[in-house]
Order: sequence, then C-alpha cells, then structure tokens
Amino acid sequence: MAGVSGRWQLCGVFCMTEAGLQRQCGTCTLCCKILTVPEFGNPTGVWCPHCVKAKGCAIHAIRPDVCRAFQCGYILSPALEEHWRPSRSKLIIAFKPDGKEVVIHVDPDVPNAWRAEPYYSEIRNMAANGPKMGATIFVQIGRRMIAVFPDREVDLGVVAEDEAVAIQKEPGTGRLGAVKLKANDPRIV
Ligand code: SF4
Ligand code: SF4
Repeated sequence: MAGVSGRWQLCGVFCMTEAGLQRQCGTCTLCCKILTVPEFGNPTGVWCPHCVKAKGCAIHAIRPDVCRAFQCGYILSPALEEHWRPSRSKLIIAFKPDGKEVVIHVDPDVPNAWRAEPYYSEIRNMAANGPKMGATIFVQIGRRMIAVFPDREVDLGVVAEDEAVAIQKEPGTGRLGAVKLKANDPRIV
C-alpha cells in the first residue's frame, strides 16, 4: 500500500550499503520542502518554516525525530550517480522500509523534472527491475501519484488523505496495475 505522507528510509532494493556512507547533504535542503513533517503539518511542496534554504536547519539540535531519521536515496545508494543529487535533479528518492515501494518525489515547482533525461530513462530501468525485486516504483508530485510499471505508467491522480494505492494483478491479462482505494478498504493489505 502506498500513501503520500511520511518519510521513508532504507530498503535493500537499490541500496548497496547503509554503512560507510560517503555522501553528505551539503547545501541541499530539498527534503525540507518536498517531504512533510507531521509535527509542523506543512504540505508537500511548502518549505518547512525552520529551513534556511541551501544552508540547513535552524533548529538542527531539536529537529523532529522524523527529520533525524531521514536519508534520501541519493545519500544511501552509491548506485545512484551524482546527477541524482536532489538539489540538482529536483527529485528525491525515498525507500519504504519493507523494500516494496520506491517513491520518487518531484519538486512541484518543476513537475516534469522526472521526465527529463537521464532521469526518465533511469526511472524506466528501475521500473523494469522492480518486479524481480518485489518493488513498485512511484512518482509523486504533490499529492498526485503515478505508478511506473515495466510496460506502462498508471496516473492515479491526486491521492486524498483518506485514500491509499494498492497494487494488484489485472483480471484477464495478469499484468500489474495500481488502483486508488479508501485507506480502510479491506483489499488494502
Ligand atoms: S534531499 Fe537528501 S541530500 Fe537533500 S537534504 Fe534531504 S537527505 Fe540531504
Ligand atoms: S525541522 Fe529542520 S530538518 Fe526538519 S524539515 Fe524543518 S528545516 Fe528540515
């Protein structure tokens, strides 16, 4: 099940190692704009009021646990090349801890950033490898979600707070699809 809130962490799908991380955030602060912090209630795409853009966090010592815990895919995965730095790509990769979902968060001020090359081709490659690793690739722009499968993209539109996305095989064809359901729907597992 995929939702649109929260900050996900490490999975074993695209991360080579969690130890010995070489990369640092530097002047990138993009997750303080694109991802939500429950304590502050800031919607995705709105800068956290404590962010000093391109510098860091004004409340670093007392920042919420969700901020302390988060590391994006660029930091975690050496398999992602330098052009994936979020401040450059305008894309943040987040891994769900169970390894079943990878979300590529797009800066809503640059909504087509994920369609630019080389990102789009690399996202298609991730999608092609997703099934054998048991992972689904999502692109998220604000609250709009797009599931990227090896053979197609399914634009789910805006996913409301009381909704979630379920991955299921389509009757007849057996190919993977994505549907938007109420979060309390029993088909959501
Ligand atoms: S998006 Fe990634 S690189 Fe940028 S500040 Fe957040 S964790 Fe660091
Ligand atoms: S509290 Fe600090 S680390 Fe957390 S989102 Fe705001 S600026 Fe970023």
